[in-house]
Amino acid sequence: MLLGQMMHQPLSVGSLIDHAARYHGDTEIVSALTEGGFERTTWAEVAVNAHRIGSALRARGLQPGDRVGTLAWNNRRHLELYFGVPGMGMVCHTLNPRLAPEQLVYIVNHAADRILFIERTFVPLIASVRDQLPTLTGIVLLGGRDEELAAQLPGLLFHDELLVEGDPAAPFAEVDETSPSSLCYTSGTTGDPKGVLYSHRSTLLHALCVNNRDGLGIGATDSVMPVVPMFHVNAWGIPYASAAVGARLVMPGPRLDGDSLARLIIDESVTLAAGVPTIWLGLLIALDGMDEKPTTFKRTVVGGSALPPSMRAAFRDRYGVELIHAWGMTETSPLGTLNAPLAKHLSLPFEEQDRIGNGQGRPPYGAELRIVDAEGRVLPNDGTTEGELQIRGHWVLDSYFGHEKSALTWDGWFGTGDVSTIDPNGYMVIRDRSKDIIKSGGEWISTVDLENIAVGHPEIANAAAIAARHPKWDERPVICAIRRSQSALSEEELLSWYDGKVPRWQRPDRVIFVETLPLGATGKIVKATLRETYGDVLWEDAMKELEAERAAQG
Ligand code: ADP
Repeated sequence: MLLGQMMHQPLSVGSLIDHAARYHGDTEIVSALTEGGFERTTWAEVAVNAHRIGSALRARGLQPGDRVGTLAWNNRRHLELYFGVPGMGMVCHTLNPRLAPEQLVYIVNHAADRILFIERTFVPLIASVRDQLPTLTGIVLLGGRDEELAAQLPGLLFHDELLVEGDPAAPFAEVDETSPSSLCYTSGTTGDPKGVLYSHRSTLLHALCVNNRDGLGIGATDSVMPVVPMFHVNAWGIPYASAAVGARLVMPGPRLDGDSLARLIIDESVTLAAGVPTIWLGLLIALDGMDEKPTTFKRTVVGGSALPPSMRAAFRDRYGVELIHAWGMTETSPLGTLNAPLAKHLSLPFEEQDRIGNGQGRPPYGAELRIVDAEGRVLPNDGTTEGELQIRGHWVLDSYFGHEKSALTWDGWFGTGDVSTIDPNGYMVIRDRSKDIIKSGGEWISTVDLENIAVGHPEIANAAAIAARHPKWDERPVICAIRRSQSALSEEELLSWYDGKVPRWQRPDRVIFVETLPLGATGKIVKATLRETYGDVLWEDAMKELEAERAAQG
């Protein structure tokens, strides 16, 4: 006997844009164009074009499950693909334009992309590697017909022409909610790029969770600016989450410098943004140099690498903007933790609330965390014990694209490669990446701590701490720092800035002032490159000292 049951509707990405069109159709989407200038559309227009582009691709022979690559910035055409491609059952594979050409070729071939959508700026790049991309049956320019570009890349198709071919009334495909909707490769800062294949279900659950009040808390009255690129973990799920609630989107396109972002925030009345700390350092410097101040900008979510406490304080104290610290990975869709307070925290002294707020926060419903030692034994959540962070949940990877083996531990957890602490309330603090942490004489020194202190110096624009080889201690900390313009800060002055802020043995051995820091494809500092360049700076002097010490001891 049937006891009665609820409706079953598969969780599908297409349903998000259909909802946005129906209930938030006139809400605006602002895009900075790759060729300069701005364009304004609405959720309704994006939805029509999503149906058009998806049906045009199907009419050209694409099958459910086929991968459609995008090499694109944050703008409305990319948004149309975000919904139209999975809406019609295909997989939207976002590619990072900042990768080296060999890596792009590797990833397109590994994913076996059938069609690739590109911005006009990437036509020469793709033309130069076209013969190495045998799986592609078509390349589409994200724009209207352009004969000059067509001459550079024979057979080039045009997004705007495909829209005309497509059927705006074509319904989205009926998908199984566990089927794939999008694909994103890890940026490969720690090895070969690996593909993470998100499902409709994981994407929907993640989007709904992102919109919790203790998550990003996006609502229909927000103007959201995802500075985090759409090729970086689905722009942290913001396009999907925004469609679900009908928020206005302000898409910054390719210009992510502080001045451009500050203008956009002020001119477009942005209320909420999201991005990596290096971007917000640029924004802070730009805002400091402007007379106008943002008035609508209240909150921004910062993650991808550690948010320096000094930056959080600067935005709060100078601009009344709350920086919300979050942690995640490509493998975790990405939301793993976000820093929202508990009721009991509100009565704590400010300093204590601030200390808690500086960490990476706690997992939302849908994700669970634990830390383990080198043998995989689970460690206590006491706020001080450090171990490898592991995660499991509804939007966490099981196995990489094309890998038959699960990437999980025997008991079903995903190892993150991050070293962290977790306190009794579940608040997690990243101490380091296991590959970056400095092992000095058997003790660990957190590069995150040392960087936060350096960036807290008023004359430092950005800094990275690395492990340099040392004959006596194995590794010792060295700081690579960029001074703010006009600063004449000396090495000794920056080193003494550490006094009283870390135990004496954690004080860096050297500071190297640099003009720039190597940034990876997602805007994070590439410490492996710094270690290659500066990893031996202590060696010779330290060897001499060690020999002198040994000689003195006879
Ligand atoms: P990649 O591994 O190529 O850098 P991801 O974007 O997946 O690509 O990076 C995830 C990693 O970024 C995490 O494992 C962690 O080391 C780091 N990370 C992300 N958010 C934070 C944060 N808030 N604080 C410190 N590290 C972070």
